[in-house]
Amino acid sequence: CGIVGYVGPRDCSDVLVSALTRLEYRGYDSAGIAVFENGKIEVAKTKGRLKDLSEKMEREGKPLGHAGIGHTRWATHGQPSDINSHPHSGKRVTIVHNGIIENYIELKDYLLKKGRTFLSETDTEVVAQLLDYKYNGDPIDTIHNVIRMLKGSFAFGIVFADYPDVVYAVRRESPLIVGIGEEKKECFIASDVPAILNYTKKYYLMDHDEIVKLSHDGVEFFDSHMLPVTKELQEADWDM
Ligand code: GLU
Repeated sequence: CGIVGYVGPRDCSDVLVSALTRLEYRGYDSAGIAVFENGKIEVAKTKGRLKDLSEKMEREGKPLGHAGIGHTRWATHGQPSDINSHPHSGKRVTIVHNGIIENYIELKDYLLKKGRTFLSETDTEVVAQLLDYKYNGDPIDTIHNVIRMLKGSFAFGIVFADYPDVVYAVRRESPLIVGIGEEKKECFIASDVPAILNYTKKYYLMDHDEIVKLSHDGVEFFDSHMLPVTKELQEADWDM
């Protein structure tokens, strides 16, 4: 029900949990994050509140790194459980999702026929597996091809194992904004502006089917034809 993402110098796990805390008003039943630690995607997730996720990470160790994605889930497909919690992964890709994929049963059948197996009951895992199945080495092209196969609403935060410390995001119907650090070189994605107001007031709005790439070099936007686009920076003039 809320997604966030971060690339920058701070402790990524801490930023993701703190940003998700500010989306708590959206309601949720599970929480999770995925962070690049030494170039590898590490996932921590659990049914329950953000407090439960923080306690789990205190017990088992939190992923240490500088780029990642986070999620609070409002279950629509598959009951609230550890396994159905986001992030969801294919072999080379891990995603968080806010929204509903209406044609996920057809897509799941297609992937089952290709020999893919599934751990969860979610519509989201189908997209993770589809991204992995269609992956051609080029994340933007892969995302572009996969969203053309999807019906429904989505905001996705996406990380590819081959591209450490890079976060991709795309949305259709579900909300998503992109924040830019004011003092530090850092960038964010979030379902809503309040999530990032502790860090910055500067953000971009995302159009439907636009893809954004966040890295330590900054942000790049691509329109629905995969062409680079320049966007107008917005400034939040309110504190929350
Ligand atoms: N449809 C997805 C699920 O049930 C995402 C729900 C959400 O937006 O939190 O896991």
